[in-house]
Amino acid sequence: MARPFLAARSAEFEALWTAQSGLCALCGKPMLRNRFEAPHARIWAKQRATFDHVIPRSKGGADTADNLQLAHARCNKIKGNKL
Ligand SMILES: [Zn+2]
Repeated sequence: MARPFLAARSAEFEALWTAQSGLCALCGKPMLRNRFEAPHARIWAKQRATFDHVIPRSKGGADTADNLQLAHARCNKIKGNKL
């Protein structure tokens, strides 16, 4: 599930962003990493990069770096708790 961006997560965010070349883990399209890249708040709300748990926490997935990937806020929401 999506989680709000936390400053403590910034190192993990950078590592994942680099590993994924800024592409969504779910749809493979480019993500936005900061608000000022978005022409409109609604586009930012859908296309910003969010942390996604590869195995959802509700299915026993760990809250650790190897279970995290970056995905669009929109894709993350659609994925929900599915594996
Ligand atoms: Zn996506």
